[in-house]
Amino acid sequence: MKTIDDLNFSGKKALVRVDFNVPLDEHFNITDDNRIKGAKPTIEKIIKDGGAVILMSHLGRPKEGPTEKFSLRHIVDHLSEELGTEVQFADDCIGEQAKEKAANLKAGEVLLLENLRFYKEEEKGDESFAEELAALGDIYVNDAFGTAHRAHASTAVIAKFFSGAKYFGYLMAAELKNAEKVLNQPERPFTAIMGGAKVSDKLDLIEALLGRVDNLIIGGGMAYTFVKARGGEIGQSLVELDKLDLANSLVKKAKEKGVQLILPTDAQIADKFSDDAQVYDGPNDQIPSNEMGLDIGAESSREFGDVIRSSKTILWNGPMGVFEMDTFAKGTRAVAEAVVDATKQGAFSLIGGGDSAAAVTKFKLTEDVSYVSTGGGALLEYMEGRELPGVKAINE
Ligand code: AMP
Repeated sequence: MKTIDDLNFSGKKALVRVDFNVPLDEHFNITDDNRIKGAKPTIEKIIKDGGAVILMSHLGRPKEGPTEKFSLRHIVDHLSEELGTEVQFADDCIGEQAKEKAANLKAGEVLLLENLRFYKEEEKGDESFAEELAALGDIYVNDAFGTAHRAHASTAVIAKFFSGAKYFGYLMAAELKNAEKVLNQPERPFTAIMGGAKVSDKLDLIEALLGRVDNLIIGGGMAYTFVKARGGEIGQSLVELDKLDLANSLVKKAKEKGVQLILPTDAQIADKFSDDAQVYDGPNDQIPSNEMGLDIGAESSREFGDVIRSSKTILWNGPMGVFEMDTFAKGTRAVAEAVVDATKQGAFSLIGGGDSAAAVTKFKLTEDVSYVSTGGGALLEYMEGRELPGVKAINE
């Protein structure tokens, strides 16, 4: 793997694709800066070598060109503070101002370009847009694992303008190393924990994992589709009625492959989708018609915890319940704590990005698991065994 360790950046201008798609509150304060912290070692290495850094990223999903709400200007102060240096900003990611600012950048300085997705050419993977971006730097570094599964202009297409001068940043290299370890050399027993809202979103991953894991734990909203498929009464719980057959066939496949598929047996049942709902634990296949399961119950938490604690490799993607509300966060917390215990006993635990990462952050347990990935979709696609365009572009 060609990483930035292979190069001294002295006198060079590095164009670095980062993933600064961070959550902002209504006052534009960053509510989770893991992605900025994650890119810091790469930026610091380039600066320490005596290079200059031009950062490019997207933020959110702007639909109609430049929009104040999605401006990366909002993160400049936070980024400057984090890096301990004043970060310059270009109002546009291409054009005269960006060119001028990039050209005048001195060793040790950092320039952040405006949101790449203000141009629809970015997501389209437009070649001439990529070429304009490429003209801003001498070396291309990709440190944006979170968008590595996209063949966008700045994540993949751009690499062709840097033959021999393209590298993985430290975050990207660490993400790939950890994902690779789980995918190809898992110490056994290997347990995958899947949760979240829908089975349909994670179908390919579940199928792929059945060929690799010893235990597959399924919790969260998606579990009710399995319970319903077996003929259970799930009340108003989340369900995908068009996926019932599929749920049964996954159960069958797991059996054929010798994988222990573990579903929750009880639920925390609520009378409404609200933090102040009336709740009780009960069997998840006998939920009254006007109530719903919004978390796994205590019995399932214990059963899941036992399996997790006896595992040597753990991959976790998706919460066990509506963990954003404290009332329904118990199951997700119990799983997180079991993952922490297993890690303390020597297991390798990889937490998939997105909501599982948010949950671990909420419980302040990020330091107690082996690795929290910054990639949601990217990690899932990697785990499905697919080649990520952002990775391929550097490797070829
Ligand atoms: P995903 O993006 O598919 O990982 O789904 C994450 C979302 O699933 C979170 O916002 C959770 O609140 C939600 N979720 C988890 N369990 C349930 C449940 N039992 N009922 C409704 N939503 C759920």
